[in-house]
Amino acid sequence: MRKAKTYWLKKIRIRHVNLQEIRGIHLESTAQLIMNQLLMQSGSTVSLDVRSRFPGGRNVGGKYSMADHRVTMYLDEIKKQCLSLFGSLEVFPQVLRIVFAHELGHAEDASLKELSDLLDACDSELERKRIALRIEENAWEYAKTLIPEEDQSLMQTVVYYSLKSYRDAIAGEIA
Ligand SMILES: [Zn+2]
Repeated sequence: MRKAKTYWLKKIRIRHVNLQEIRGIHLESTAQLIMNQLLMQSGSTVSLDVRSRFPGGRNVGGKYSMADHRVTMYLDEIKKQCLSLFGSLEVFPQVLRIVFAHELGHAEDASLKELSDLLDACDSELERKRIALRIEENAWEYAKTLIPEEDQSLMQTVVYYSLKSYRDAIAGEIA
C-alpha cells in the first residue's frame, strides 16, 4: 500500500510553464475550435494546414492554394496583425475568424480559376492589378456572408488594410 502511494507521488511531475506559454496554448486551441466550426459551417471540402510563421518574413495571415485545394493559416502572423492594427491580442479570435473566412472565400470562389487564368495571360500591369483586386474582393464578399454577425467595425478595419495595398497599387499606376 505504502509502496503504491510512493510510486504515485513520484509519477507527478510539475513542469514550470510561464503565463506566456499558457496564453499561447490557449490561443492555439481557441484557433482550432474557431476554424473547425467555420469550416463545417461553410460546407467547404478544402483541407486546412495550420502553421506559425509565413515563410520569407512577409506578414501574411493565410493563403489558399488552388492546386492543392488547401488553406494554410499562419497564427503568429495573425497575432502580429492584431497587435499592429488593434494594439492587443484580445481580438485574436475575431481576427482569425475574419481572415479564415476570407481564405474560405478564395476556396469557394467559383470564378477563381477563370480570374487566375486571366491573371496569368494578362500582359498589362494595370489590368493584372485590377484582376488581383477583384480576386481579393470576391473573397471578402464571401467572408461577409459567412460571418454576418461579426463585429462590423473590426471587420471593416481588417478588410480595409487587406485591400489597401491592392488599391494603392492601382492608384499608383493611374497617377
Ligand atoms: Zn486573399
